[in-house]
Amino acid sequence: MDRRVEPGDEGVEVSEAPFWKTKSLAEMTKREFERVCDGCARCCLSKIEDADTGIVHYTDVACKLLDTDACRCRDYGHRRRRVPDCLKITPRTAKTWTWLPPTCGYRLLAEGKPLYWWHPLVSGDPETVHIAGVSVRGRTAGSEEDFSDDEMAHRLVTWPRQLPPGARGRKPPRKRSSPRKRGLRTKGSGFPLARE
Ligand code: SF4
Ligand code: SF4
Repeated sequence: MDRRVEPGDEGVEVSEAPFWKTKSLAEMTKREFERVCDGCARCCLSKIEDADTGIVHYTDVACKLLDTDACRCRDYGHRRRRVPDCLKITPRTAKTWTWLPPTCGYRLLAEGKPLYWWHPLVSGDPETVHIAGVSVRGRTAGSEEDFSDDEMAHRLVTWPRQLPPGARGRKPPRKRSSPRKRGLRTKGSGFPLARE
């Protein structure tokens, strides 16, 4: 591990490596543990458990407290009281809840994997989780209060258990250079040709 002494810290060793690389989930402070959440809100989608198989299926229906644009809980401090089945992630459950999205920061760290480039801790930007297409922004059908149980059963989706193509890798994908305009124009028209 790289170490250095900061001005004013004479005699005190300071780690340069970020906490999520040096500490286990169990060793993190409460604030550090909270910051492992990438803000995707995938876990705030309603889920249906198959009584026979125990398999948990995601729906694209949001919890009634979820702000689906900000991807934030509207009453995080009182969420357990207002939504009794809102589950609490702990270092132990991060390992055992196999239904957690493969993108979930807690799941990744619990499995000894690195965080992706779009995780706000890595990018320094809370928007990258949306830019990478990982969050639920723009992908929900509505609030659970607007759907009956029967209707909910028709809202099953698989994308919360998948990694979007733009989210792969540990660095942002390189931008493709734009196509050469010369090849996309009709001779002399000055307008781009429509493409199928
Ligand atoms: S799936 Fe994981 S990273 Fe995403 S909001 Fe839920 S706890 Fe946070
Ligand atoms: S109560 Fe809040 S944290 Fe819990 S599932 Fe609903 S929106 Fe998410």
